[in-house]
Amino acid sequence: MKKQSKKNIAEIKKRFLERYGAATTELEFASDYELLVAIILSAQCTDKRVNIITKGLFAALPTVEAMADSSVEEIASLIKSCSYFNNKAKNLLAMAQNVVANFGGSIPHDEASLKSLAGVGQKTAHVFMIEFLHQNYMAVDTHVFRTAHRLGLSSAKTAVKTEEDLTKAYMSELAVLHQAMVLFGRYICKAKNPLCDSECFLADFCQSRSNFKPA
Ligand code: SF4
Repeated sequence: MKKQSKKNIAEIKKRFLERYGAATTELEFASDYELLVAIILSAQCTDKRVNIITKGLFAALPTVEAMADSSVEEIASLIKSCSYFNNKAKNLLAMAQNVVANFGGSIPHDEASLKSLAGVGQKTAHVFMIEFLHQNYMAVDTHVFRTAHRLGLSSAKTAVKTEEDLTKAYMSELAVLHQAMVLFGRYICKAKNPLCDSECFLADFCQSRSNFKPA
């Protein structure tokens, strides 16, 4: 697969910004605690489902302290319609207890501290910094990975390397471009039956319609 030229990358970036420049996350949250919990829950789960779950979860456990004083069983019962709910419940309890014990009950806002929390890897930390702090970071989920490869913006095997390629290619406005590629992948450049002929505004740059997935 041929990598896109600088000129083509600039045009792809321009079209993404024109189409999705005002886009924000579809996750609903009112604080840094709520956003971090929602992002942890969103792995392998739709934002729509997470928004349904978090309504009840945050009514029962409105603060990180309340979550830290809870139990795996209680959290699991509140998130049981989410995929991998047992594992996510364990991570959420450990995350909350760590925040209370080591960060004075305040969700940390820097990458290294975020990544020290249970259930928080590089993608989750970057999505948090993009959505809450509007910082210039890229994060690569399944949609961003697939669309980056279909558009010839990366041929890397892993999400982390793809993130590096996209960061180098775009340089600026990464937070908006992350959101743009998530929405493009979710609604147009879908894994199965992408809307190539009816909806795609980047078809002239498309290199492959394969369903790329990270190694
Ligand atoms: S033409 Fe189809 S596969 Fe290619 S970028 Fe557009 S929607 Fe995705």
